[in-house]
Amino acid sequence: MSGEGGAPQAIRKLAPGRLVIASHNEGKVREIRALLGPHGIDPVSAAELDLPEPEETGTTFVANAELKARQAADLSGLPALADDSGLCVAALGGDPGIFSARWAGPDKDFALAMRLVQDRLEALGPEAYRAAWFVCALALAWPDGHVEWFEGRVGGTLVWPPRGGLGFGYDPLFVPHGRIETFGEMDQDLKHAISHRADAFRQLVAAVL
Ligand code: IMP
Repeated sequence: MSGEGGAPQAIRKLAPGRLVIASHNEGKVREIRALLGPHGIDPVSAAELDLPEPEETGTTFVANAELKARQAADLSGLPALADDSGLCVAALGGDPGIFSARWAGPDKDFALAMRLVQDRLEALGPEAYRAAWFVCALALAWPDGHVEWFEGRVGGTLVWPPRGGLGFGYDPLFVPHGRIETFGEMDQDLKHAISHRADAFRQLVAAVL
């Protein structure tokens, strides 16, 4: 799909060569490198190119991924890939959503962020609906302005108290459909195979490589 609007266009393929990963998160860059390396793509990170981190002013995951990818493509003159992700809770109208990182505050305190989710659910009463889903949006932008984007999801249920010390962020709260353990308790290879990020990357690989 293209972010340019107007008539539908053919999906643009990504030619082998350099690709900027528009992220300053080394863990993310490493994961993306491993995923795309076998496809002849040579990823270089925004940090390695000394590119600035834009403010995430979009109102959707896709919009935020797109603005990060566009800026990196414009500044580097290379195709650029960015992601934006978070946890959406049905009973909270999709919150924390695009604000998932911000709910953890400047200290990135996810014990606090998980507590906040639980407090809001408790405020709805003991029978509050605990369905939730993780989202991962990927945007691939070229220097000429073309953008392709993909959105992956994984659905599940929130538990309380949090369980497991693996993973990151909201993982200890989230039991994906069909499993009994949280993402924080799960073998991380399994998490990476069924996650929202895996879903989004499968779509990207199928469409543009
Ligand atoms: P960003 O995509 O780097 O802006 O991060 C979004 C935030 O969403 C992260 O800081 C986490 O709090 C949360 N998040 C995204 N993906 C995951 C996941 O796989 N597990 C747990 N939390 C996640």
